[in-house]
Formats: sequence, C-alpha cells, structure tokens
Amino acid sequence: MNYPLTVKICETGRHIYSKGLSPGKSGNISVRSKDTVAITPSGVSLGYLNMGEIVFVDMEGKIVAGGAKPSSELQLHLDVYQKRDDVKGIVHTHSPYATGFARAGERIERVEGFREGKNPFLKMVDYAPPGTDELATSAGNGLLEEDVVILKNHGIVATGKNLFEATLLAEFVEDTAKTQFISRVLGNIEI
Ligand SMILES: [Zn+2]
Repeated sequence: MNYPLTVKICETGRHIYSKGLSPGKSGNISVRSKDTVAITPSGVSLGYLNMGEIVFVDMEGKIVAGGAKPSSELQLHLDVYQKRDDVKGIVHTHSPYATGFARAGERIERVEGFREGKNPFLKMVDYAPPGTDELATSAGNGLLEEDVVILKNHGIVATGKNLFEATLLAEFVEDTAKTQFISRVLGNIEI
C-alpha cells in the first residue's frame, strides 16, 4: 500500500467535505501513480475517510490492495486516466452551486483562471445515470480537451496534474458558479 497516497486522499476528503463541496456521502477522489489508481470507497463520507478504506486498482479496475468496495464511479476515473496521460488526480463532487447549474441546465462561465477554450462556458456533458459506463465514457470524452466538465443533472469532475490541482479546480468551479449566481440575483453587471 502506498502510504502517502492514502494520506493525501484522506486529507483532501476532509478538506472538500469541510468546505461543503461533498455533502453527506457524495463525491469521490482518486490519484494515479504509474499504473495504479487509488480511489475512495463506495458509500462513505469523504469527510471521515480512514486510510485503510482507500482501494488500489490497476488501470482495468482490478483491485490490487485494500479490502473495501471502490467508488461506484471507478469506471469514470479510469476512463479519464486512460484518455489523459497527464492527469494524476481527479475530484468528483456534487458541490451545491455548480450542481444547481448542472441540474438547471445552465452554463457556468469560463472566467479567467480556467483553461482557455473556444467555448465561453465550461463544457457540460449529457446526462447519463451515475455509476454507468455511459457516464464514464461521456465524461472521459468531455475531458479530452478540458480540465473540468459539468455532468448534466449530477455534479462536476475536476482533474489535475496532481490531486492538489484537481482540488483547487473543483473549488474554483464552485466559487465561479456561486459568484455567477449572486451576480444574476443582484442584476446585470455593467463593465
Ligand atoms: Zn456523483
């Protein structure tokens, strides 16, 4: 078992839970190290993870260490890692503001600080039921040229060259959605 990875995942889980980004038992986190992926288990709160619960799988999803059942979104994480060699950390959350936009089908603006792209809004991928191969494929495809995607009616998937970068991105998406929501409530902003 890779001790530092389990520490990193547990610390990240507590952090995003305490920030209100992964309420209840929602969300999942993973890290890739070479051909091994460490991922949070199914059905637990990210705020109260124990190191022994982190599951290690190979790139095909076969468990190589850890006794718990891996997150139901394991295939989504694997799909992204298989398509993006540069991605080493993934954070999936149902953070309230970003998920509110996702449920309403409203786009989140690609403000300064996000990866540049032609689309002025963050990419939103079509709805597919949680935990399905269909969702894994559409999220993986959506992330081919993006660092973050909004899952319609569901939540967000943020990626990074390490877990810290993915976490910062997940926070930034939520903050952007929150600011956009507030500015809409207050009225049009003139520049
Ligand atoms: Zn989810």
